[in-house]
Amino acid sequence: MGQSNRRVLLMDTTLRDGEQTQSVSFPPTEKVSIAKALLQKLKIDRLEVASARVSDGEKEAVKKLNEWAKTEGLVDRIEVLGFVDHTLSVDWITDTGGQVLNLLAKGSLKHCSEQLKKSLDQHVADIKQTVDYALSQGLRVNIYLEDWSNGYKDSPQYVYDMVTKLVDSGIEHFMLPDTLGVMSPDEVFDSLSDMLTRFPDTKFDFHPHNDYGLATANAMFAVKAGISSIHCTVNCLGERAGNASLAEVAVVLKDKLGLEVGIDEGQIHHISQLVENFSGKRIADNTPIVGADVFTQTSGIHADGDKKGGLYMSALTPERFNRERSYALGKMSGKASLAKNLEAMDIELSEEQQKMLLKRIVKLGDQKASITPEDLPFLVADLLERKDYNHVQLLNCSITSGMDLESVVSIRVSVNGSIRKSAGSGNGGFDAFISAMKQVLNEQEQFDFPELLDYELRIPPGGQTSALTECIVTWQDEGKILRTRGVNTNQVLAGIGATLRMINIKLHSKQTSDV
Ligand SMILES: [Zn+2]
Repeated sequence: MGQSNRRVLLMDTTLRDGEQTQSVSFPPTEKVSIAKALLQKLKIDRLEVASARVSDGEKEAVKKLNEWAKTEGLVDRIEVLGFVDHTLSVDWITDTGGQVLNLLAKGSLKHCSEQLKKSLDQHVADIKQTVDYALSQGLRVNIYLEDWSNGYKDSPQYVYDMVTKLVDSGIEHFMLPDTLGVMSPDEVFDSLSDMLTRFPDTKFDFHPHNDYGLATANAMFAVKAGISSIHCTVNCLGERAGNASLAEVAVVLKDKLGLEVGIDEGQIHHISQLVENFSGKRIADNTPIVGADVFTQTSGIHADGDKKGGLYMSALTPERFNRERSYALGKMSGKASLAKNLEAMDIELSEEQQKMLLKRIVKLGDQKASITPEDLPFLVADLLERKDYNHVQLLNCSITSGMDLESVVSIRVSVNGSIRKSAGSGNGGFDAFISAMKQVLNEQEQFDFPELLDYELRIPPGGQTSALTECIVTWQDEGKILRTRGVNTNQVLAGIGATLRMINIKLHSKQTSDV
């Protein structure tokens, strides 16, 4: 069938269905920030932001969002889930200035007869009552046929009859969820083709879930069957195994089906990080498109291939998503990976020096140490026995912590050769150290402490309680992300090590740019 130039609409439901994720709840201000980013930066076609009648805080957030969206001309893209409750959900939505109701109805005979204890005719009468009221209040109405995938399988006549009875009621989109994520791509294709053949003038959406890891494939096959709206969430957020990933769906529809999608894919990674931070749900490093490692080559052979003309590139280039390709440093990395990293940091080394450095990296990799690109200047300095990265050295450090007591730290440090003493207190040993260190740096240098984004502490798998602890801290410094590492048997000292590294990197780049 002719697929090209067909435009598929994406409906994001991170803020409604995504919020069903275990332990995820977005406070109103975060909800508004995510919604604004999705609408304005990513340019999502449709956005479901809440369930009606949930809470007053939620209502305030939706109201604020609608007010903003009205001034931007985007308010008709915002949708709210509501219930078959005659006036209640509709009034809630109109109070917030909303324009679209996504009505939740029962899409399977089982749900209708066992949960509602109603016949289809009774249920349809209730639905029509709510729809009529919504239309009279100026809302546009879409309808979810909840549990449609099971309904279609177990009681198809119920599904056909329901759509037939509602098709002329003023409802715009009939939204067909695979509520339990049980379908396969073949089943999606066959069932949706059937629905579209029976009701050729009806707009159907498909709403996949990812229980079998098939959500993206199912979205693709729904579109192949002729569906023109797909529901998804950022980072696959959602109940159980989550919904379909917005990033994957958008990219698959474009690359694999040659379709147009309206979103700006350059914003996908940014939005993913925003939602990761606000939801507190970390995505795996190998998550397609948005994971930390998906544009990192770990094998030296691949880096060599890249050097010789993109032998290991696909249509999934990092540039599309405003990301950069990187080359891992570890025991698998070869000469080419190292050369790429040195080049990126403007470090020039002789052949002989590069060989020695590589040996060192391979050895560290063997000891299960992870090496970040930021480690490289320190390894080089060590190798060349240069001191120019050690602007600040910790000479002595004592940490006192106790239950229900502020932690106290006293330090003796050398800053560019002069010895300083300082003390600090805080919420834990690490915080106390930062406060002591800030005092020293304020006396000595103009130093802006970067924002701490992430603090990861781990003992390598198989390690004992006495093992070396590795701490990786992610900092945001003037828009740039910096990751530094510290290793120590003492957990707080590992964090302190990572912090000293960050300070030395910053002081070094400051001194070199001062000249
Ligand atoms: Zn869902």
